[in-house]
Amino acid sequence: MLRVTLRFYGDLNNLLFGSFTGPTVERRLTVPTSVKDLIEGCGVPHTEVDLILADNHPVNFSYLIQEDQQVSVYPFFSQIDIPESKRLQKRTPPHNRFLADANLGKLARYLRIAGFDTAYIQGQSDKEIINQMLGEQRVLLSRDRKLLMHKVIEYGYLPRSDEPVKQLLEIFRRFNLFDETNPFSRCPNCNGVLQSVSKEEVIDQLEPLTRKHFDDFSQCPDCGQIYWAGSHRQRLDERVKEILGIGG
Ligand SMILES: [Zn+2]
Repeated sequence: MLRVTLRFYGDLNNLLFGSFTGPTVERRLTVPTSVKDLIEGCGVPHTEVDLILADNHPVNFSYLIQEDQQVSVYPFFSQIDIPESKRLQKRTPPHNRFLADANLGKLARYLRIAGFDTAYIQGQSDKEIINQMLGEQRVLLSRDRKLLMHKVIEYGYLPRSDEPVKQLLEIFRRFNLFDETNPFSRCPNCNGVLQSVSKEEVIDQLEPLTRKHFDDFSQCPDCGQIYWAGSHRQRLDERVKEILGIGG
């Protein structure tokens, strides 16, 4: 029987399973256990962890826990600079492409409005979700802790807030997206890349007032939706505009 003490830092404490109060958790292990399994057994997916110290030494997820160890588990901190060599995850994924799992539909729309290639899926099995994530090299966004615990998931994030605007801000902070935006370049409905179209091309599909007041239009080649400055910009939540740095 191995005895081990874990200490979780920052908002990782909010992810602990209900039976653990945190920030300190005592565990007893009957079989040799990797630090990944130990941490995830407390409710925290590995995708949310940036640094693990076992008796003050940085270790990998595969590290096998020893008797009486003290394990410290840290989230991604935007303010603290942990040396790259000690991090478990590289902070920046190779591509800012996302796959939003069920219940994150509004977040997916916001990411598309910000210009990020974002697939959205509902009602698929974990295997199908993971296959799509790997095949399209996307960062998985999910509130399903068990799903994010799959070993093959290198880049993922579990939005903490229930509110889509706050979720967007969390993702911008975690993946440092503030300078990577290209607002209104994608279709919020289907993720298509919008193309400029002349007014003449779409004039017969416009309402009279739109026809009168707007001259610049774009269209989604995938679903056919037409956009103009007044169509989604004006209705967009002010807080989202602020996150995207596009002002009122
Ligand atoms: Zn579309």
